[in-house]
Amino acid sequence: MIEEVTIKRRGLMLVLSSPSGAGKTTISRAILRAEDNLAMSVSITTRAPRPGEEHGKDYYFVDEAEYHRMVGAAELLEHAKVFDNYYGTPKSHVERELGSGRDVMFDIDWQGTQQLKASARDDLVSVFILPPSVKELERRLRGRAQDTEEVMRRRMSRAADEMSHWPEYDYVVVNQAVDESIEQVKSILIAERLKRDRQVGLVGFVNGMRSET
Ligand code: 5GP
Repeated sequence: MIEEVTIKRRGLMLVLSSPSGAGKTTISRAILRAEDNLAMSVSITTRAPRPGEEHGKDYYFVDEAEYHRMVGAAELLEHAKVFDNYYGTPKSHVERELGSGRDVMFDIDWQGTQQLKASARDDLVSVFILPPSVKELERRLRGRAQDTEEVMRRRMSRAADEMSHWPEYDYVVVNQAVDESIEQVKSILIAERLKRDRQVGLVGFVNGMRSET
């Protein structure tokens, strides 16, 4: 029987960004279900929970005082104002997961991605998800029906701005068929895990083989 080998690897940070309505949540949930070695970063936000959202699962819902306290105490890996609310990534959870060799996935905007790029470029893999068309984006946003018409209109107009940031990302996926997009993001994850620099156990592994030959 062939002995199974495990080569020690450094955890990576997989960022997914997109304009709201491009299908990012569906894609990230499917990947999370399929991958054992991947944790989701749960952000804090000052916005009110939407129906069905759970504290600690979708977001940690905090007030502005708590957000500013966390910023001041350097408890956030990145933070930004998106639309009219504040968002941020708690540092401790991400560091714990990466430290234990797991990868971490983030659903954050372009501002947060730029901050992570500045602080952890080597560990960052960024993917921008585009909708197949503006018409489809609008259809998906209308189908959601959780926001008011006013919020909907503002989100549509912001979508164009958000989409302009695609050149800052390592990969771009056009979400035409969601199953295909899920496979594409999984492929990115598989390939990035195999990057030589991330496989920190390779030196020992190869040296071990050479000493046996
Ligand atoms: P929503 O309020 O619809 O859940 O999210 C609005 C936007 O905020 C999305 O583009 C989402 O990616 C972004 N976002 C969510 N959490 C964070 C975060 O922790 N940091 C940053 N920079 N953006 C976030």
